[in-house]
Amino acid sequence: MANKMYICFWGVRGSISSPGKKTANYGGNTACIEVRCGKEIFILDAGSGIRELGNKLLKEKHQHINILFSHFHWDHIQGFPFFAPVFNKKYAITLIGERKMNFTLEQLFTAQLMFPYFPLSLKELDAKISFNEITKNDSIKRNNVTIKLARLNHPGGCIGYRIEYGGKSFVYATDTEHFSCIDKSLLNLSLNADVLVYDCNYTEDEYSGKNGPPRTGWGHSTWEQGIKVAKAAKVKKFILFHHDATHDDKFMDKLEREVRKEFKESYAAYEGMEIIL
Ligand SMILES: [Zn+2]
Ligand SMILES: [Zn+2]
Repeated sequence: MANKMYICFWGVRGSISSPGKKTANYGGNTACIEVRCGKEIFILDAGSGIRELGNKLLKEKHQHINILFSHFHWDHIQGFPFFAPVFNKKYAITLIGERKMNFTLEQLFTAQLMFPYFPLSLKELDAKISFNEITKNDSIKRNNVTIKLARLNHPGGCIGYRIEYGGKSFVYATDTEHFSCIDKSLLNLSLNADVLVYDCNYTEDEYSGKNGPPRTGWGHSTWEQGIKVAKAAKVKKFILFHHDATHDDKFMDKLEREVRKEFKESYAAYEGMEIIL
């Protein structure tokens, strides 16, 4: 496995967690993906799915963990205070993301763990927490891993990440609304990627308002738009992600079948789904 990239999905929902019998197969936790490149551990977003991942990591010897944040909407950070390694002195955890307006990355997490929203402050966590602020479009290097990024189209901004290791590439593009033409920076980020994880929150009918209120301008996309990017970028595997809370297992099964007619290598992400590249 030393030269392989291992990917596991721990939370696949968007906006709000949606536990219950109807969503048990795909899972109800919000955004969190584990990516291992040799000894390096990267976690993409800290939605509620990160809680279970934390319990798994505690059983291992790893002591340094990187968490890459796409942005700081609740569904991408709410699991952070429940990530067990933060309560363990052994761990060094690097939080990677961009500052927002005048707030530094550290201030954003100080605010999340603030009275009366949470009983402990950031300073009271046991792990050694450090902050790696992204400025402009700089890429991140960790040993033999390169991480490139692109700015996506989402209220308040969002970062898409491309992780490259051992000649393979994995792209995480959640929380983005398509334009009338293909988003060039997303296309660049996704070029020839082995895997593209894409924000498929809405159906076209939901997006346009044929089914409920129009969701145009809400910062999310549809699978049809994602497939356009996947085809143009010659992506090998397309992963539907950020499932709407109302899209239950039955709906997701049907959706996946539909998407495969357009792009054969399409998969609706579910909790526990693993990919090895
Ligand atoms: Zn989201
Ligand atoms: Zn968001």
